[in-house]
Amino acid sequence: MEIKNLRVNGTRLQESLEEMAKIGATPNGGVQRLTLSDEDKRARDLFVEWLKEMDLEITIDEMGSIFGKREGKNNDLAPVMSGSHIDSQPKGGRFDGILGVMGALEVLRTIHERKIETERPIVIVDWTNEEGSRFAPAMVASGVWAGALDRDWVYKRTDISGKRFVDELERIGYKGTVPAEKWPVHAYYEYHIEQGPVLEQEGKIIGAPKGILCLHWYDVYLEGEANQVGPTPMEGRHDALCAASEMILKVNELPAKMGGNMVSTVGEIQNYPNSRNIIPDKVHFTVDIRSWDDDLALKAWEEVKKDFEEIAKRRGCPIRNEETWRVEHSPFDQKLVQKVLDTADELGYPALHMVSGAGHDASYMNQIAPTAMIFVPSIGGRSHVEVENTKWEDCEAGANVLLHTILQSAMEV
Ligand SMILES: [Zn+2]
Repeated sequence: MEIKNLRVNGTRLQESLEEMAKIGATPNGGVQRLTLSDEDKRARDLFVEWLKEMDLEITIDEMGSIFGKREGKNNDLAPVMSGSHIDSQPKGGRFDGILGVMGALEVLRTIHERKIETERPIVIVDWTNEEGSRFAPAMVASGVWAGALDRDWVYKRTDISGKRFVDELERIGYKGTVPAEKWPVHAYYEYHIEQGPVLEQEGKIIGAPKGILCLHWYDVYLEGEANQVGPTPMEGRHDALCAASEMILKVNELPAKMGGNMVSTVGEIQNYPNSRNIIPDKVHFTVDIRSWDDDLALKAWEEVKKDFEEIAKRRGCPIRNEETWRVEHSPFDQKLVQKVLDTADELGYPALHMVSGAGHDASYMNQIAPTAMIFVPSIGGRSHVEVENTKWEDCEAGANVLLHTILQSAMEV
């Protein structure tokens, strides 16, 4: 059989995804596999079991990322790498992340059963904590691996109950001994759902993002003055939640004010003591600003910070801002992006050149190796929610594009 006629087994891919969706399944059809939780561990165990069936060389690094390597004819050549993440959002979907891991697995299974020899080794990867919802920030394992983040800083990050990243990593048995350090990579492909509505609206099956928007995260802490709500007059109150409310709307108005291609969001808030008859004296909320233009995103933060300070002063609620995390926008490798578009074309799938609004491990990989992504449509553009869905035939189509892009790169000498 000619390699160009090779296709993945769509049924087997569906079965792997359905098997994974059982781990941490939520009542409304989603999954909750928070990073380094028991569910994350169970999904990792299953993944490792599947890697073993193909006799891959398995390594787990000190960030808990799992690598499976299939040898090539010449193992001195830099490998082709592909994967994504197994962890999910709280009440997240069944496709985000896991599709890229199961897609790469299906590609390796296809290559394995046909006994295809590639020039270069192929490495499949599951990156720890892509989501960043239990331990902020996101994409920490690929960040440390690529040399952009400090391992010990990540180790000390805590979840909302005060548990440390490193202790949870140890607890689930995935703190490996191999240093989380980059090695040369010939090409990195990450297969993922789009998580937005564009492919569906345009009637396309494959998306090839030219890159990922920059991603800036901030944490805002406000202090107010608690008091009994009944006897305390409205005048002279220092209500931290009211101050936060005004600030949140300023964040929402930011893209319209700044122009250009930008989105900004407050998605998380904690209010203290969170009692109906006490004036709130402490609020924490997050700010997320994304744009293709890094400078515009920075300017936006400076603008909104001024608004924050004015509001905080007027309401007598001292403010503290933390600049938690910044990832620059990532223009992907143009040749690799073109390879994705050409491959989709050869396989007969309508494809679209676009941008990714969501952050991915591919962002950090792009700093050290030629990188591209393959997107498939999200039904209704919904993601990070339980109803997140993608058609099985689209999952298969994306995996076929992944198969042929990986094979092409792995045959290059
Ligand atoms: Zn993801």
